[in-house]
Amino acid sequence: CANVCPVSSITEKPEMDAVIAAAKDPDKVLIFSTSPSVRVSLGEAFGMQRGSFVEGKMIALLRKLGADYVLDTNFAADMTIVEEASELVERLTMHDKPLPQFTSCCPAWVKFAEIYYPELLPNISSAKSPIGMQGPTIKTYFAKKMGIDPKKIVNVALTPCTAKKCEIRRGEMNASARYLDLPGLRDMDHVITTRELADWAKKAGIDFSSLEDSKFDKLMGEASGAGVIFGNTGGVMEAAVRTAYEFVTHEPAPKELYTLEPVRGMQEIREAAVEIGTLCLQLAVIYGTSNVRRFLSMAKESGKHYDFIEVMTCPGGCIGGGGQPKADVEERRTMVDSRIESLYKRDAQMKLRKSHENPELKQLYEEFYRKPLSPIAEEMLHTSYTDRSGLLGEDAGKYKTLRTFAV
Ligand code: SF4
Repeated sequence: CANVCPVSSITEKPEMDAVIAAAKDPDKVLIFSTSPSVRVSLGEAFGMQRGSFVEGKMIALLRKLGADYVLDTNFAADMTIVEEASELVERLTMHDKPLPQFTSCCPAWVKFAEIYYPELLPNISSAKSPIGMQGPTIKTYFAKKMGIDPKKIVNVALTPCTAKKCEIRRGEMNASARYLDLPGLRDMDHVITTRELADWAKKAGIDFSSLEDSKFDKLMGEASGAGVIFGNTGGVMEAAVRTAYEFVTHEPAPKELYTLEPVRGMQEIREAAVEIGTLCLQLAVIYGTSNVRRFLSMAKESGKHYDFIEVMTCPGGCIGGGGQPKADVEERRTMVDSRIESLYKRDAQMKLRKSHENPELKQLYEEFYRKPLSPIAEEMLHTSYTDRSGLLGEDAGKYKTLRTFAV
């Protein structure tokens, strides 16, 4: 797992056999959860225009391949925002943990910090990533509501990301096993990428473009526009700010927070200042680990204070993930721009644009998690990180000199 590369310069390890076997096994309940950026890239694998929004066909394809349920990881992205924004508000108002708060939904960034910047681990949000929240919620809440034996569920995350194959195998990603007292149960069983799904569909002889649109299943299939934009760099920040604003002020978020221009675009490091009530939040958005190093050095040198920092590893965020359909070097920028544009367009078209207003999510909190950061939410939806700098061995001293950001 340590060798999985987020941008797939090392090829992803196929995981398809187990998923295909589950699709054929009548005793298994096969549940797919689909990440935000797959729906704007999957069509490319079938010759469709770059950035085509193919959510309905993607769901139909999964059903045709044997899914018993198709749920939306955008729903869990809303959950991540609610938990992460609540944590940020606590850091800002109760000063219980250090600032800045860093996002935690990119497992390659988390691993990078664990190895090279372990002193930053208290600053990384304890909120699990969307698939990290989706997995245990399906095996507990969803299974109970639908009358499904959790032991029969095969949870598959469809993602743009090869690093997520490692994330689901982290030892601590078994909250459902602890909650249900079912040792051996995993929260998420498999991760397959956009490309792997496209290959599966082609081998199965399915004509993707002729599929009739289908819809997500209920209970964990509804999402806000804030969940949609999780798929691109700056999206997590923009989504979190919409919710944090309303949590702090109890007033509707102003219009400009629905198009937070300074955090949009493809500049490797972007900054913004946002007023939330009496607070003025200093924000930064970064993609790429070399840019993280650069940013941390600059921050150390300038002594500037930051409150909230989003980090994604891949160029442009998850829309440029290692498991996505690829493009030639000269076409890469167009590819990334079209996918980003498609996600922002979708967000702008939606009535529901704030994570904490998602009706299915509200129902989940009423019936199960009670409120953000409750003891059960902490148990199921939050995690902790490990100092892995020992992996550097003799090189550790060399990297220590790069740890320059005092927090
Ligand atoms: Fe995976 Fe997204 Fe991180 Fe890339 S940016 S490693 S696709 S989570």
